[in-house]
Amino acid sequence: MREVLDACAKWLGTQDWGAALLARLPELIAEEKRYRTAGDAGELLALLLSEADAQKSDSDKERFHATYETAVVDRAPGRQLYDALLAAAVHDLCPLCGYQPVSQIDHHAPKATFPLLALTPLNLVPACGPCNQGKSNKLATEAAKESFHPYFDDLGDERWLFAKVHRAEDGVAATYSVRPPAHWPGVKIQRLQHHFTSHKLGHRYSRATSNRIANRRRRDIRLLASAGPEELRATLEEEAASAEEANPNSFDTALLYGLAACEWYLNGGVEDS
Ligand SMILES: [Zn+2]
Repeated sequence: MREVLDACAKWLGTQDWGAALLARLPELIAEEKRYRTAGDAGELLALLLSEADAQKSDSDKERFHATYETAVVDRAPGRQLYDALLAAAVHDLCPLCGYQPVSQIDHHAPKATFPLLALTPLNLVPACGPCNQGKSNKLATEAAKESFHPYFDDLGDERWLFAKVHRAEDGVAATYSVRPPAHWPGVKIQRLQHHFTSHKLGHRYSRATSNRIANRRRRDIRLLASAGPEELRATLEEEAASAEEANPNSFDTALLYGLAACEWYLNGGVEDS
């Protein structure tokens, strides 16, 4: 937190109110500490709901926003911190959808309501454009709709994203769905389902499917012709297991297992694609 305000200090020095904002650093540090403690305890939404009214009416709200937009997003040295947050995304992929490159920073707690978190690194999450734009600027009011926070929420190593591959008018298509592990707490299951629908992941993954199939079509046809459907299945399963190691719930993992399980694809459907 201190690092962010230090990076903004030069620009703040050019503003009449810059010194007043810098003087609020201890308050921001205390808020960051509460945020971390609540996040670690799985109680972030409760904390945010309890603070929303007070933060929304903070007298420096517009100043915090301006500092973020100008001294963090727009210019060095703040921009270097912004870029470092983007670069921290695993494999450069958006942690919310797991398949598009990160391109922007999302305020997990919307900055319109939480100005005291507008500059807090823990609240700044790398995301792709569609995930960031599709995310509501309003805070969830019930636990079942609380957005996942990539720094605090662990979605585990078990598979919960599945694809059913089928024939479509113009070739091969896949339908995606989530099947959360039964031993998960009920609220986590509801949050995953909400995550999947609110980010339109089924629709987005379906649209990206034909390109993935096109990229492997020739190889799969050759393998089918030379070695038969069981060898094609074994190859797809091997690729799926490798993708699963990278991310058990990526769209690629789901699609590869879906292809390996699709009798129509294995028995010549690939040639229709
Ligand atoms: Zn995304």
